[in-house]
Amino acid sequence: MIARIIDGNALSTEIRGQLAERAAALKNKGVTPCLAAILVGEDPASAVYVRNKVAACEKAGMRSIKDVYAADVDPAVVFARIAELNADPSVHGILVQLPLPKHFDSDAVLEAISPEKDVDGFHAENVGALMQGNPRFIPCTPYGVMKMLASANVPLKGAEVVIVGRSNIVGKPMAMLLLAQSCTVTICHSQSKDLAFHTKRADILVAAVGRAKMITGDMIKPGATVIDVGINRTPEGKLCGDVDFETASAVAGVITPVPGGVGPMTITMLLTNTLEAAERTQMRCAK
Ligand code: NDP
Repeated sequence: MIARIIDGNALSTEIRGQLAERAAALKNKGVTPCLAAILVGEDPASAVYVRNKVAACEKAGMRSIKDVYAADVDPAVVFARIAELNADPSVHGILVQLPLPKHFDSDAVLEAISPEKDVDGFHAENVGALMQGNPRFIPCTPYGVMKMLASANVPLKGAEVVIVGRSNIVGKPMAMLLLAQSCTVTICHSQSKDLAFHTKRADILVAAVGRAKMITGDMIKPGATVIDVGINRTPEGKLCGDVDFETASAVAGVITPVPGGVGPMTITMLLTNTLEAAERTQMRCAK
């Protein structure tokens, strides 16, 4: 079998085009959607992520603010800036790029962002809303995966889903979203016994670990949908996912590549969340 590829770049381009139209319509009503991004430290990957997010905003006709702080900044400075952005009615979304330096309490920083502007969906209030099946902001990566599954018409109701990875930003919210669509969800992690036993049962397999090519073709059910969230570098410096694309694509029915799969969708859903926050503001003002 040669798997059908879900092209995250193509889907992103389509969605971003629609977002640009919605942003333009909102601007005509006097509201320019605005995302504020805070970066602390010099981690090169984080700097690239923030740069890409800001550039994507501008391209979609949204405004962006980027604040960069030295790695040894006093956390009080960052908290004060978040408070300022929370109070600024022209700012609709705020994100703090993770990971933060060790002297920061990351949870406290995420909780400091107004839940109304928490476009990453990491605030406890928004996590709770997602758990209750009534989300305000869906975390961007799992949100992007749901869009990819929908675009490929992957049946969800009753599907056996196995998610490898249980992080707060990918694995857990992914599980909640798929559960809400009546999938039967199993979450695996570093202490799971016999990982292949679980993955081979999956109609939909989501890999979100951060270990290059750890999911191989022999761990996949023939015809399964395989979503690769992982972003890793090979020893030669090439970008690759958690899934060994070569062997997996010979067994799977549908698969996402790395690069060009989930990655671009994550930024697209950040733009979506920012736009939705701005639309909500406009609707509140119009009332
Ligand atoms: P975390 O490090 O927070 O979580 C990794 C998870 O993988 C943990 O739950 C861990 O288990 C589990 N794990 C580790 N080793 C194994 C193993 N041998 N078998 C099974 N499970 C294992 O990572 P993130 O969730 O933040 O990210 C995961 C990957 O996705 C990374 O490569 C990251 O770069 C990428 N990513 C990509 C995004 C995109 O836009 N495409 C966005 C976000 C992340 P335990 O809990 O027991 O430690």
